[in-house]
Amino acid sequence: MRYAVISDIHGNLQALEIVLNDIATKGVDAILCLGDVVGYGPDPNECITTLQTHRILTLAGNHDWAVIGRLDLDYFNPLAREAILWTRRVLSPEGRAFLESLSLEHRFGDLLAVHGSPRNPIEEYVLDGNTALANFLSSDFQICLIGHSHIPGAFVYTEKEKVSFHQLPVGSPFPLSSGARYILNGGSVGQPRDGDPRASYLILDLTLRTATLVRLDYPVQQTQQRMLQAGLPWPLAERLAYGL
Ligand code: ZN
Repeated sequence: MRYAVISDIHGNLQALEIVLNDIATKGVDAILCLGDVVGYGPDPNECITTLQTHRILTLAGNHDWAVIGRLDLDYFNPLAREAILWTRRVLSPEGRAFLESLSLEHRFGDLLAVHGSPRNPIEEYVLDGNTALANFLSSDFQICLIGHSHIPGAFVYTEKEKVSFHQLPVGSPFPLSSGARYILNGGSVGQPRDGDPRASYLILDLTLRTATLVRLDYPVQQTQQRMLQAGLPWPLAERLAYGL
């Protein structure tokens, strides 16, 4: 089984289309989306219909929940909050129904997929070894796919070494041993935050037992223009150019 794993699209249709075109050349069996379809970017409805057209299995993220009123806005910084309120205003009834339908997690055997973390799928960021360890101990997955932080990487758990963090090399397969457990983050399609502005996603091949990070250029300036036309805050557009 070979999955393409996308996450944190955040209403960035230009980035999503480039990523889906690339995935179409990769011969995957299924595409998983780990949530935050909306928030920040200028095309929330179009991103939703694109996911529906491609029949992509999608999970809920914190921004998706905030837009439909399931998460308190105090949780967000002022710019994120402004983008969430803007998204609420433009979201179509069909888009709202889609966001309301999203599940918190999916399990496929010993593969688990969530937005944030296994123990708190909506809100928790897995950014350090201690948080990763707590999550390895909280659930019995072998491989867990996460998004939320927008930072690609792999937390690896072994009985002997406990937790270590590894960068995922771009374009070359990262081997997944059957004797270890993994929390894998493929980064963000629509708002990368690791200093690399290129759209990010992951190919997970359970037959070859590899995870491969893919980075793709997309027309950042077009997205920035659309954000300005929409009246979204300029700093949210500016950060896309820096991947921050
Ligand atoms: Zn996000």
